[in-house]
Formats: sequence, C-alpha cells, structure tokens
Amino acid sequence: MPTDQTVKTLIHGEWNVSSSHKTVDIYSPHKNELIGQVPSLSQEELDASIKSTVEAQVAWESKSIQDRGDILKKWADILEERKEDIGHAIMNEVAKKKGSAVSEVTRTADYIRYTVEEAFRLDGDVKRGDGFKGGSPQKIGMVEKAPLGTILAIGPFNYPVNLSASKIAPALMQGNSVIFKPATQGAISGIKMVEALIDAGLPKELITIATGRGSVIGDFLVQHPSVDMITFTGGTGTGRHISELSSMIPVVLELGGKDPAIVLEDADLDKTAKEIVQGAYSYSGQRCTAIKRVLVKDEIADELAGKIQAQVDDLSVGMPEDNATITPLINQKSADDVQNLIDDAKEKGATVVTGDKREDNLLYPTLLDHVTADMNVAWEEPFGPVLPIIRVSDQEEAIRLANESEYGLQASVFSKDTERAISIANRLEVGSVQLNAKTERGPDHFPFLGVKASGLGVQGIQESLLSVVRDKVTIINM
Ligand code: NAP
Repeated sequence: MPTDQTVKTLIHGEWNVSSSHKTVDIYSPHKNELIGQVPSLSQEELDASIKSTVEAQVAWESKSIQDRGDILKKWADILEERKEDIGHAIMNEVAKKKGSAVSEVTRTADYIRYTVEEAFRLDGDVKRGDGFKGGSPQKIGMVEKAPLGTILAIGPFNYPVNLSASKIAPALMQGNSVIFKPATQGAISGIKMVEALIDAGLPKELITIATGRGSVIGDFLVQHPSVDMITFTGGTGTGRHISELSSMIPVVLELGGKDPAIVLEDADLDKTAKEIVQGAYSYSGQRCTAIKRVLVKDEIADELAGKIQAQVDDLSVGMPEDNATITPLINQKSADDVQNLIDDAKEKGATVVTGDKREDNLLYPTLLDHVTADMNVAWEEPFGPVLPIIRVSDQEEAIRLANESEYGLQASVFSKDTERAISIANRLEVGSVQLNAKTERGPDHFPFLGVKASGLGVQGIQESLLSVVRDKVTIINM
C-alpha cells in the first residue's frame, strides 16, 4: 500500500503508483531502516505503458539529432546541479561512501555529454556499386544508422545511476525509446535520475520505468514482443537466463568477473600493493572489475602479502556518511555468501592475514593467503571485501589459473618488463588487460567488454551507440 514514503514511477507518461497499490519496500543497507517504497507494477500496467513508449518513439526518431542532443545535454547539467541530492539517494540506498556516490553523478553527466558529442559524429557510409566484380557505377548504396526501436535497459545495484544512464543516453541519442528496469535496491536513485531527464524536456512517454522485483516482472519484460534490444548489467546467472529467454533480438550483457592480478618477480611491489588494494577493496569490493584474486610468484609472495596487509589495515571501515571505504554490504545474504567463502578457505588451510571480522552485513577487509585451487574463493566471484592470494611457481601457472576461470572480464599484469607483460596480456582470455594498474572500467570512452561468462557484446561510448542501431541501406540506381 503506498504511503508518503512511496516514490512514484514513470508509467504511461505519468508519475504514478501502481493501480494495484502494491509496493516494494527499500531498506537502507547500513541503517537497516525503511527509506522508501517503489511501485510494484503489474504486467497489465507495464503492457499499457510499454505501448505508449513504443508509440512515442516514432516522433522522437524524427526529431533532429541536435534537438535530441540539446535535451540530453540539459539532462547532464541538471544531474550536476542535483549531484548532492542524487548522491545522497545513492549513498542511502546502496551504502556507497558519500564522495563516491556524488562522483558517480558527475561522472554520469560527463558520460552523457560525451555520448551526445560522439553521436553527432557517427555518420553512415556510402558504397560504390562497381566495387564488386560485375557491379555497376550506376548503383550507390547509402548506409544509414537507424534506431532499433524500444530498448530494454536493466541496471545493477552497484552503480544505480551510472550504469543505467550509460544505457539510456545512447538509446535515446540514437532515436530509440526506453523501458528502464532499475535494480530494486537502487530504484529510488534511478527514478531521481529519470526525473532530471524529464525536467530537461524529454517527453514522458518515451520512458517506462519498470519498477518491481526482477524475479516477478523480469521474464515478462525480457520476452515482451515490443522489446527490440536488451542491454543488461548484473550477475552472470541473471544474464545467462536473459539470453536464454530472449529471442531474435540483440542482447548486450555486462556480467560478473574474477579479475586476477598477476604479479611477476620484477614488479614494483609498493606500487603493485597500492593498486591491488584500491582495485580489490574500493566500495567494499562490490565492483564487477574489482581485483578478485592475486596470482603471485612464490619468491615475492611474502613481501607482497606484507605490503598489501599494511595498506588493508589502513582502510577506513564504517558508514558511508563518514566516507569510509569499507561499508556494509548490500544485504545480509551477500555478507553471508562472502563469509562462507572465507570460512571454506579457512577450513581448507588458507591463512587469514588480516580481517575476517563481521558486524551484521559489515565485513572487515579480509586478506587470505595460501589459497589453493580446491577452495571456492579461488574461483567464485565474491561481491565483498575479501582478496585471496594464490602463490604460483611460474608465469605459466599464473596464466593457466587466470584462464581456467569461467569469467573473463579484466586482468592486471604487474612487471617492469613491458614486453613480457604484453606477451602475457596477449594470452589472457579477458576483455581488457591493465599493465601495472588495477582493473577498472574507464576511461568511459574505451571499449569495455567481458568474454566467456563475463559478457556478450561491447560497451564504451561509441560501442554503446552502435549497439542500439542497425544499418538501413537505400540503393540509388541512376
Ligand atoms: P542481479 O541480481 O543480476 O540484478 C541485476 C538486474 O537484473 C536488477 O535490475 C534485477 O532486478 C534484474 N533482474 C533480476 N531477475 C531478472 C530477470 N529474471 N529478468 C530480468 N531482469 C532481472 O545483479 P546485481 O546484484 O544487481 O549486481 C551485481 C552483479 O552485477 C555482480 O555479479 C557484478 O559483477 C555484476 N556487474 C557487472 C558489471 C559489468 O560491467 N560487467 C558492472 C556492475 C555489476 P531486481 O533488483 O529487482 O532483482
């Protein structure tokens, strides 16, 4: 039942609650108190709203790209004006430290502005007919980029504004309409982000915000006949399920990871430890591109473990309002999952170098050493602040273990020998390799992709713009 804490969603061109009056409660992960509710939409309501979103796309596509860009640029400006308010919502909803929550909003504004500029430059192509044997110079092929229609954008909890806007902005810039399914934990922030877009002048019907639990409405949305393309970020299990359900439409998936940091004997260990700690523990390790295992040559493992430990012990642990790096995890289940990985490793002989302390869903940063291949933490993605060190005898073992993972998002290689590092990078089955730096997304205009269970398709601003259009070929016969 809606209350004064219920945040209205955007359906059928109106800010509204569900006609069924059903809602989903949103609790703050760190205060463990109710911070709001979002409407739990029924299939019938969604169906009607999607219909108006599909219809609105026709007029939007016929607007000039400059006009579409003006609205999106204004959106970026409004987001920046509201960075404190939206940042506060992110902090409350997903327990991200205040500074990072606010910078998520400004990074999003920058992302939108770049998307607008990049879209202006994505021209089509002209083909000459006589380029193929027997072809005629009287034939000219005009290849334009046409919108796909209506894009289903599904976001994760950990970057509820950035990883949603990075789907919505390219879709709209290219003349599509959008069905936006925010992560339930993150939906209030997502709604605030879309409010800014509507205030910038976007026609309300162009977006349906499909609030409600993914387990309840997800399959319905994914299989909806009006959806022309799906762009998803989230867990590998959900992504796999979506790719199985969807049919005859393009799907872009950004999924989980188990990013290794490979450390060779000639690495600068001070810099390496600093990069590893930042990569592994920022936002309590709840990042797809967090470093999730260290593969280090035996001879330097003790020294590296000591340097990592010194920095881990310096990490601030506490509440997001205090800008702590390590904050409570998104929910108790997530904390239980991470704790189970730690317990399993301990039982099988891993050493706890530091950490392994817990207060409810607040897990202290934990460093495990002497982790071996029979331990779950060597292979599973912990979405939390635990880092396993796996000692290897040589470079070949490191490459083999790195590639044995089902995931293939990113990897880091630390070595002063650039040629050697590049030769290792070439053999790693991942989307990107960072040399002498932590794994991370960005700069946002670089292509971003995962292979194997880490994803399908490519993101990055130009690639995202291209993922929501198709070629439209008109042949002029003179
Ligand atoms: P998740 O549980 O898979 O949820 C992601 C989104 O999918 C949410 O909006 C969720 O809605 C929705 N969903 C759930 N079931 C669905 C269904 N049957 N059909 C359609 N949508 C459905 O992931 P998460 O916990 O939010 O995010 C953490 C995961 O995301 C981690 O594995 C992380 O590695 C990955 N991630 C990857 C990247 C990348 O770029 N590769 C970036 C960030 C995060 P509800 O919230 O309502 O359940």
